[in-house]
Amino acid sequence: MLVDSHCHLDFPDFAEERAAIVARAVAAGIGRMVTISTRVKRFQQVIEIAESFDEVYCSVGTHPHNAAEELDVTVEALVQLSAHPKVVAIGEAGLDYFYDHAPRDAQAQGFRTHIAAARETGLPLVIHARDADSDMADILEDETGKGAFSFVLHCFSSGRRLAEIGVALGGYVSFSGIVTFKNSAELRAIAADVPHDRLLVETDAPYLAPIPFRGKRNEPAYVAHTAKVLAETIGVSGAEIAAVTTDNFFRLFSKMPRPTALSA
Ligand SMILES: [Zn+2]
Ligand SMILES: [Zn+2]
Repeated sequence: MLVDSHCHLDFPDFAEERAAIVARAVAAGIGRMVTISTRVKRFQQVIEIAESFDEVYCSVGTHPHNAAEELDVTVEALVQLSAHPKVVAIGEAGLDYFYDHAPRDAQAQGFRTHIAAARETGLPLVIHARDADSDMADILEDETGKGAFSFVLHCFSSGRRLAEIGVALGGYVSFSGIVTFKNSAELRAIAADVPHDRLLVETDAPYLAPIPFRGKRNEPAYVAHTAKVLAETIGVSGAEIAAVTTDNFFRLFSKMPRPTALSA
């Protein structure tokens, strides 16, 4: 069994055929998917999807792109929404200085709100970080100093130092289809040095389809292609990468019940 730790099933790209996409993923051996919230104001659509499929769970939070529009979202609101049994994570939140769709101080403020909610609920924080290595490292070190919280650096595409800091602070590192791209040699070298018990795989669908689907719409079934490249990168078999990343997934997203076949 493989899992997709990060996808966006609520996006309009999937509207017509969501059930077929989940079915294709399950048929491909993807036993669990986490559909990630990007706007608290649209959380209702996300939770309805999670409620519709046994294999789908979700998060609640505001993507850094939308941080300026959702600065009124409080820690209390996140805590309250995350009480739903299908909500297994907070986020995605973080810093995106590549697009800078929201002012950087708004991104940081929203990020710290989500950290507080993760700390209070004990749910893991799904972190989006792009071109913001130094500020991300500073905030993670500052906030973990105030009190522990679990987190994953999702769709990792930052520099080696941020991966090392994330791991040192107890975090997980999740790799997407980017790790399969020909020009991602440095990213594969970083992945090879992440401790195996901190590795996760994801699609970030509908974006970032792995080779051989690069440039097309991504979907959770394709996470198998990312896992295959990650296995080759770290020198383990396909069965081992599935076992390791799935075990890590259930350890991090610990609110999600493990399927009985895996509970031993
Ligand atoms: Zn993201
Ligand atoms: Zn995402």
